[in-house]
Amino acid sequence: MFTMSEYSPTTRPRNLLLVLGDQLNDDSAAFDGFNPEHDALWMAETAEEATHVWCHKQRLVLFFSAMRHFRDGQRAKGRHVHYHELSRRPSDDRGKNFAEILTRDVHRLRPDKLILVRPGDHRVLTQLRNAADSLNPDLDLRPDRHFYVTPEEFQDLAGGGQTLRMESFYRRLRKREGVLVDDDGQPEGGDWNYDRDNRESFGKTGPGDIKPPRRFHPDDLTREVVDMVEARFNDHPGSLDTFDLPVTRKQALAALREFIELRLPTFGAYEDAMWSGEPFLYHSRLSAVLNMKLLHPRECVDKAVDAYHDGLAPLNSVEGFVRQILGWREFIRGVYWTRMPDYADLNALECDDRDVPDFFWNGETDMACVADIMRGLRTNGWTHHIPRLMVLGQFALLSGVHPRRFHEWHMAMYTDAVDWVSLPNALGMSQYGDGGIVGTKPYCASGNYIHRMSNYCGQCPYHPKHAAGDDACPFTTLYWDFLDRHRDRFADNPRMKVQFLNLKRKADEEMREIRARARHLRKAVDRGERI
Ligand code: SF4
Repeated sequence: MFTMSEYSPTTRPRNLLLVLGDQLNDDSAAFDGFNPEHDALWMAETAEEATHVWCHKQRLVLFFSAMRHFRDGQRAKGRHVHYHELSRRPSDDRGKNFAEILTRDVHRLRPDKLILVRPGDHRVLTQLRNAADSLNPDLDLRPDRHFYVTPEEFQDLAGGGQTLRMESFYRRLRKREGVLVDDDGQPEGGDWNYDRDNRESFGKTGPGDIKPPRRFHPDDLTREVVDMVEARFNDHPGSLDTFDLPVTRKQALAALREFIELRLPTFGAYEDAMWSGEPFLYHSRLSAVLNMKLLHPRECVDKAVDAYHDGLAPLNSVEGFVRQILGWREFIRGVYWTRMPDYADLNALECDDRDVPDFFWNGETDMACVADIMRGLRTNGWTHHIPRLMVLGQFALLSGVHPRRFHEWHMAMYTDAVDWVSLPNALGMSQYGDGGIVGTKPYCASGNYIHRMSNYCGQCPYHPKHAAGDDACPFTTLYWDFLDRHRDRFADNPRMKVQFLNLKRKADEEMREIRARARHLRKAVDRGERI
């Protein structure tokens, strides 16, 4: 038996708790039975996690800074943390990935047992399992209590069979958890879903003055990480000049409070709207801190529901927010863990190995919508779901980018992207790569959709209604070409009936022009030419 005062970095721990960058919650199952006199934490920043996709600099700073703050918080509680910092020089690294660093430390520390909560990435789980198998201590893999639903419960809640239904999953979960339901299990306000009230655009006058989300200025610890990332990952995309994300639980709670008070009341109505130069609008921008577990989904849902009951936010806003967290977020995690690892290789539309366009990295395009969204993405490492999926994702889908490439790009550019989130959202829903597991049809639309939901088209050299000709909107051209190319696959899908009826009305000559223009656009994009 040794005491805390006797603990040193070379003391042999009973349990070594492996804590990953998206597991920064100290109420996690990893800490069950934790005894600071016998047990220690292990955390590592690794070059592999920073480079297996070409990561946005803000994503790197967010994860490493939040990890270092978490480490210091644990040490302040008297817990011992074996922590590996990445330094400015790769030659200082003690291994390139979790497996290499852990193997060295297990040989050095000789713990009786390794404890790990299920990671958010199947690749990391496999790597750590394999490393543990080749070492002496047992691996105690524990469930992730951060979520409402375990992977084991998921299949029943989502429909049991091959076909999964988000809407029925969401209703069952709301009833089970008693969220926005009355004593008889009926939905608050009479409807389960207020999506119809959540599709407003801003009209000509725009959104007016909206207070941007609170900025959390980098402290000394974050500045150290910024310096390291600038020195070591300088060629990665994005900028750190504006880094202002919450990196501690206290900051994350402040961001949640601010969203509930200031933006939730208007969030619902305008959640799908876009406006140039306004990347945040009424969105919470809490997804990154939720995915790192600095916030718990239950506290987000409970605070939103409290705001509704206190008369501070309308039902359409609160239900929309609850649906994103308790509904969609839990649903896609269930899809991930019940379908991996095969899910990552799905390519239902049989796309060639086409990569994302150059302008997905550098933003250099004449398309006003894409140029503005890319400015926001490069600056903030974040956009809300409509620019992400219905503009950038849409362009990738319509132009035939391989779904796995789009997922990898999404992982690289978004601060909130972790594998379990990105694969079902990016490869699955946005690119229809999974052939209908998360969505029953591809989410495709012409430039008219972007025109309706934003002010972009008025600033663009292209015309959203034109499908052929030099001023044709690339989205509109590629939309009709996409339907044309996938006629056999989707013409009988009842949810696409109207789209195919409209395609049928196109004259042969117009379709010839559309196909030629689409070929020209795809070639130009593949050659890296500006469109
Ligand atoms: Fe985007 Fe097309 Fe509108 Fe231009 S015309 S802003 S490319 S949707």
